[in-house]
Amino acid sequence: MEKRITGHTELLGLVATPIRHSKSPVMHNAACRALGLDYAYLAFDIQPDQLEDAVKGFKALNVRGWNVSMPYKTTIGQYLDHITPIAKMCGAINTVINDHGVLTGTITDGTGYMTALKDQGIDIIGKKMTIVGAGGAATAIVMQAALDGVKEISIFNIKDASWERALENVEKINSQTQCKAQLFDLNDHETLRKEINESVIFTNATNVGMGKLEGKMVLPDTSYLRKDLIVSDVIYMPEKTKLLEEAEKIGCKTINGLGMMLYQGAASFKLWTDQDMPIDVVKEALD
Ligand code: NAD
Repeated sequence: MEKRITGHTELLGLVATPIRHSKSPVMHNAACRALGLDYAYLAFDIQPDQLEDAVKGFKALNVRGWNVSMPYKTTIGQYLDHITPIAKMCGAINTVINDHGVLTGTITDGTGYMTALKDQGIDIIGKKMTIVGAGGAATAIVMQAALDGVKEISIFNIKDASWERALENVEKINSQTQCKAQLFDLNDHETLRKEINESVIFTNATNVGMGKLEGKMVLPDTSYLRKDLIVSDVIYMPEKTKLLEEAEKIGCKTINGLGMMLYQGAASFKLWTDQDMPIDVVKEALD
């Protein structure tokens, strides 16, 4: 790495707190190394009262771009010059591009999800999807899916703090895209069964299946699944959630959240460097 850094090396980065667990520096540095691009990507643990100064500093230092993670995805927009339509729809930013002092915020999580599906040969354009969740991950997915041409999206959520956001997501999709979105209570099992039966894909975009909820599923039982249903989970640690394990047993095509994570990074990388991230190299670097 030291040999690689010269007087010409430009900076990329990530702002968040906490940050030390992030895989993004490994991903982006491996990609730059493989392509011979003269950038270094560093993680910056920024406290909330330093965010504005950090953005000003990055601009002054001509940092080419940076990722944004929690807790700043919803607050960094106020310090930027432009926000893309998809980031406005999501109310969140995960990528900033610095074009000679003009800062643009966008979000690549939803593109990451849709590209991960394509990478597995899955096409949901013009079809119906059922998704559980209305937090950051779910919002990015449904907005991008709706903009990309998914025909119908049935969103299920529990009646917690995310319910209001779920209502807003449905309203935005129905008023700003050609997609038809509906919101249902996750406890309405009859409707859940009906909507999944009519869908080509079922997606878990909640925390259920990881951390304290590892070993649990968002579905009441496996009778909601069928062999020709695609089942996807945004979680990639564990690699296979209980939902994906059960779906696999039934014979469903399954996809975990690793592809979404990789391809959101690849989309940011493309915006900064105009190059395609070498996904295989990056996967190997993450192992
Ligand atoms: P969030 O806190 O913004 O939203 C959490 C969602 O889960 C909400 O809709 C909430 O209602 C729902 N939820 C929480 N507990 C529940 C329960 N017991 N039953 C049913 N629903 C429940 O979180 P987020 O940022 O959207 O992250 C959600 C998951 O997505 C996490 O596991 C995170 O690791 C993962 N994620 C993956 C990627 C990726 O690239 N693969 C990116 C972002 C987030």
